Amino acid sequence: MEKVSENLFQVEQRIQEACRRAGRNREEVTLIAVSKTKPVELIQEAYSAGARDFGENKVQELIRKIEVLPPDIRWHMIGHLQTNKVKPLIGRTALIHSVDSIHLAVAIEKQAAALGVSKVPILIEVNIAGEESKYGIRKIELFDTIREASKFPHLQIRGLMTIAPFVYDPEYNRSYFRELKQLSVDIAAKNIDNVSMEVLSMGMTGDYEVAIEEGATIVRVGTGIFGERNYKI
Ligand SMILES: *Cc1c(COP(=O)(O)O)cnc(C)c1O
Repeated sequence: MEKVSENLFQVEQRIQEACRRAGRNREEVTLIAVSKTKPVELIQEAYSAGARDFGENKVQELIRKIEVLPPDIRWHMIGHLQTNKVKPLIGRTALIHSVDSIHLAVAIEKQAAALGVSKVPILIEVNIAGEESKYGIRKIELFDTIREASKFPHLQIRGLMTIAPFVYDPEYNRSYFRELKQLSVDIAAKNIDNVSMEVLSMGMTGDYEVAIEEGATIVRVGTGIFGERNYKI
């Protein structure tokens, strides 16, 4: 059994220190506890220790957990989403981080309209390092994609998300985080209707402190809170 509350406490300390180093207020950064593959008992433990934002990457698992866990949890969809799996999420997630194509934006718009949900908050996922293996919009397509998605009345674009490369030294990702922050500033400066850039979702267990130093407003920490994931169970 992982000591979830102890891990949470330590992550919290490190977030506070990163905020202090960067001259930021702790309130500017939201910690998402990434609970994918983890049982509801461990989520309950994190909840009891004060966590209220949880991240999942599979629709079925997310819905199953929503139904048995406290109603004041804010659920975040952070995984790649197929267009035909969108429907159950509408109106039930605080934020969909992983909008990685205009097709997906269209699907969310359609389902939201059909269900009468007026504004679905989303982030646009950016493939910041241009990795073949990663989902996300490429940098050169980002402005056009955002302009197009901004026309959908049932979507609310609230910022950007990225999954940085897997590295052993988080310093290697600093320039990617800085670049995502700059992209968000550039997009905000265009004052596009229906687009705000107040959310920057970047940084995971290996690199969340560097991400905070570079402007993250959301960090997504799984292993650092719940321990290693076992995909076989
Ligand atoms: C799994 C996952 C995380 C958490 O990863 P850790 O390295 O365990 O902190 C964060 N973001 C996304 C999109 C993920 O899929």
